[in-house]
Amino acid sequence: MRFTEFNFHPNLLEGIEASNYETATPVQEQVIPPIMAGKDVIASAQTGTGKTAAFLLPVMNRLLQNHVDGQVGALIIVPTRELAIQISQHMEGLSYFTHLSSIAIYGGNDAQNFVAEKKALQMGADIIVCTPGRMIAHLNMGYVNMKGLQFLVLDEADRMLDMGFQDDINKIIKALPMKRQNLLFSATMPEKIRQLAKKILHEPVEINIAISKPPEKIIQKAFVVYEPQKLPLIKKLLKEIPYKNALIFCSRKQTVKQLTRELKHGGFNISEIHSDLEQSERESVLSAFTAGRIPVLVATDILSRGIDIDTIDVVINYDVPGDGEDYVHRIGRTARAEADGAAFTLIGEKEQNKFAVIEQLLGKEVEKAVVPAELGEAPSYHPRTRAGHSGPKRKFYKSGPKRR
Ligand code: AMP
Repeated sequence: MRFTEFNFHPNLLEGIEASNYETATPVQEQVIPPIMAGKDVIASAQTGTGKTAAFLLPVMNRLLQNHVDGQVGALIIVPTRELAIQISQHMEGLSYFTHLSSIAIYGGNDAQNFVAEKKALQMGADIIVCTPGRMIAHLNMGYVNMKGLQFLVLDEADRMLDMGFQDDINKIIKALPMKRQNLLFSATMPEKIRQLAKKILHEPVEINIAISKPPEKIIQKAFVVYEPQKLPLIKKLLKEIPYKNALIFCSRKQTVKQLTRELKHGGFNISEIHSDLEQSERESVLSAFTAGRIPVLVATDILSRGIDIDTIDVVINYDVPGDGEDYVHRIGRTARAEADGAAFTLIGEKEQNKFAVIEQLLGKEVEKAVVPAELGEAPSYHPRTRAGHSGPKRKFYKSGPKRR
């Protein structure tokens, strides 16, 4: 689903475009419409699914229509300062072409920060992103006006309860108007979250996006390379690793066609599958692959779901898939039934951040294999999204419309 289909404010669409989001992720597709329809929502979605934009976009869209000067429009409560900073930065990107302002309020003993936060709160902000304890400290001082609040968002609610924030959350909620829209996001849905939801949410729409993790028995490795090293590396892998059937995924059909051409040229017995082929052609390619007449197949993501071929023992991702779910589906084509399998992902220079997001979703780092020396020097892995690479630049910002 494309973002133009949500009926967002044009200035918000500009921010989405500038953030390079093209299509909505599954959580965004399911969560945005009920929020825009004014419903309370409870969603189980992990980091990496695009859940932040799933609540930020409809909230921002409403506040663009219903902005009231000097009033807080939305309060987003999160467990950690890192998450508060991350959400603020996300909001900064998406709201770039709007008048919306936001403040991140998080703990720490810095008196100077407290004063800056106080000043910002007194000026008013459309969206506050906060950790519970610090917000209570400000609420207790009496200068935060929550009368115009339209949205309460609890993000990573399970972590907040694990960290013992239940009482703090209750205290904050007491300071909010009764009539408001409530959104609760949690990676897991244990009973205590359901209890919390019962207290806070009103007839919520329930959405479950938790993705399944790949089977442990799949050996996952990744090569961090420069783009031109990908072809020689694939050739080397296909020559040196043992397999019955190897499936190579590319995100675009043009890449599938080009890679197939290059590999055929290199003497490999190989075929391709993508949406340009007729159904009958696809079927005959698949049956040749399954029968072992063609040991290697290059495919787009049309083959990442559903197909179940026991003899696929190697999956190679020529490029990093669009999201974590595609990754899990792609590598899940190997190690079917009782068989074992290996999955190799080639990470180009521009794909490092995308892969780090997938690793976040998997909850682990995928082992980085050494690139063979004969392919020349390879880049190191330093994605921006990894912990420690996303420090705050500005803590408070009130952004007017800017030009590109
Ligand atoms: P989150 O699950 O909110 O932590 O988001 C994970 C990452 O996905 C972030 O780096 C977002 O910028 C990115 N992202 C969110 N929505 C989209 C989208 N529709 N298209 C591409 N990237 C996205």
